Amino acid sequence: MNRRMEMICIGNELLIGKTLNTNANWLAGRVTALGGVLKRITTVGDEIDEIKMAVNHALQRRTRFIIITGGLGPTHDDMTLKGVAEALDLELVVDEKALEMVKAKYEAYFKEGRMDRFELTPSRIKMATIPEGAEPLPNPVGTAPGVIIDVKGSLLIALPGVPSEMKAIFEESVKPLILENAGEGLFFEKSIFVDGIMESALAPLIDEVIRENPYVYVKSHPKGEERIPHIEIHFSTLTEDSEVAERRLEKAVNRMLELTAHNR
Ligand code: AMP
Ligand code: MG
Repeated sequence: MNRRMEMICIGNELLIGKTLNTNANWLAGRVTALGGVLKRITTVGDEIDEIKMAVNHALQRRTRFIIITGGLGPTHDDMTLKGVAEALDLELVVDEKALEMVKAKYEAYFKEGRMDRFELTPSRIKMATIPEGAEPLPNPVGTAPGVIIDVKGSLLIALPGVPSEMKAIFEESVKPLILENAGEGLFFEKSIFVDGIMESALAPLIDEVIRENPYVYVKSHPKGEERIPHIEIHFSTLTEDSEVAERRLEKAVNRMLELTAHNR
């Protein structure tokens, strides 16, 4: 089973330090919890060539899921789908289903009194203009639909940059697809905190735990400083069976506690 995933975050605001890339952090946690294996997060600006390159590279790595966020809005700098279309050598077309979705949103905004008159302007039609053959994904909280394209076994999914919209489309349309593809494997984790042992002294103990627990990934995260050590040790495993996960994690954690107790 191919669980390989990548993420491409698009937006100049991410590259100039204006906006913290919380989408990447949130999505990384979600896809991991659902059994996906995130291999790479790429951030590029609002530039066609950069978007094209990022998409092509992710496809070359035979990635099962490529999740893109940002650049689906109505303004000139929102050029994600143009970059995707160019990368895949596809035309951009006004999609009927997508247009219905966008139209329904503006009709609702008009009825709610948020707009003086209902009108489908070119900027609004832009949000329904997607690569030919792509499917629009309904946006439960905003206007621009997400988009999914099957590219020879890779699923390319573009989501809006606005975090609430990105999350809503992910939960409604992307999560079921990941669960279908990643099989039953889920991610389990546990942490312990160790005080008073320097990370450099902890390293050989972690090596020993890793040797004895090949199915558990162990990683230390220093939180204090080397002279006043406060270290989180994180244990994780991917399995279909929560009891197996529990057993694996407990065995590794107990061994770590034993070793650290001896080395104080
Ligand atoms: P966009 O869909 O590119 O027009 O993005 C709309 C807004 O979403 C931006 O102005 C940012 O405030 C926010 N945004 C875009 N990308 C991200 C991201 N990766 N993490 C957090 N916020 C983002
Ligand atoms: Mg943008």
